[in-house]
Amino acid sequence: MVTSAEYQTKEQKKKFYRSGRWESLRIHALERDNYECQQCKREGKVRVDSKKVQGERKSIELNVHHKYEIEHYPKLALVLDNLETLCLSGHNKMHPEKGFGKKGKQAKWGDEKW
Ligand SMILES: [Zn+2]
Repeated sequence: MVTSAEYQTKEQKKKFYRSGRWESLRIHALERDNYECQQCKREGKVRVDSKKVQGERKSIELNVHHKYEIEHYPKLALVLDNLETLCLSGHNKMHPEKGFGKKGKQAKWGDEKW
């Protein structure tokens, strides 16, 4: 058993998010939250996961978010109470500095070809 898991690096986090333990806990959290964004719920809206349309980005995508980030609180990585279902836009609000879900392709000088 891993006694002192750390999630400092990208690799460590990737490994964690690919693990079967996380996957089953994630589904647990989604079911607990009825597949609804908890942040939107607090604002009186209901947002559920949208159906995937072939070839299109999902308009609403639900994420299971760690209230206390695993980087700083590795012991809470697999604690259900530390998890919250959020839609991507809700996630954005909480971590604006990370720019989740942002469209990164804003071509600068796109029409200037010298
Ligand atoms: Zn939301």
